[in-house]
Order: sequence, then structure tokens, then C-alpha cells
Amino acid sequence: MSAFDASHDAHCSEILQRIFFFIDNELERADCDEIQQHLDECQPCLEKYKLESTVKALVQRSCTEHAPDQLRERVLLRIRAVQVDIRVDPS
Ligand SMILES: [Zn+2]
Repeated sequence: MSAFDASHDAHCSEILQRIFFFIDNELERADCDEIQQHLDECQPCLEKYKLESTVKALVQRSCTEHAPDQLRERVLLRIRAVQVDIRVDPS
């Protein structure tokens, strides 16, 4: 059981590293299917994916709507926090 968990964690960090590309639709079809399937099965990764999507949507909106500097600052901080979070090794 614990062996399964360890390999699942490794898979999670691999998936999370590719989520940026997944959101940008920059992955091959097969890779998208793999990530989509993982997100269906893995709640923590799904939450991370939702956060990434939200941040990306915020950035796009702030780019087109000339968001106040304060909002842009907050979005940038959020992105940096997410990136740091993803790089943290769970083991
Ligand atoms: Zn996962």
C-alpha cells in the first residue's frame, strides 16, 4: 500500500510540473489524456489545477482590462506562491 502511495506521489509532482503546459494546451493529445485522467482520480492535483486555471484567467483578464497595479501585484504574488509550492518536494 505504501509503495503505491510513493509512486503516486512521484506521479503527482510529474503531473504538476506539466500542468502549466496542459492549461496552455501545449501538450500532445496523449499527454493531455494522461493528465486529465490523473486529475479525475487525484483530488490534490485537481485542486492545484483549478488554482492554476484561476490564476491564468485572472492574468488574462488583467492583461485585457488594464487592471489596477494592486491587482496585478496580487496576481503575480499568487503565481509565485504557486510555483514555489509546486517545486517543494513532498518527500
Ligand atoms: Zn496527483
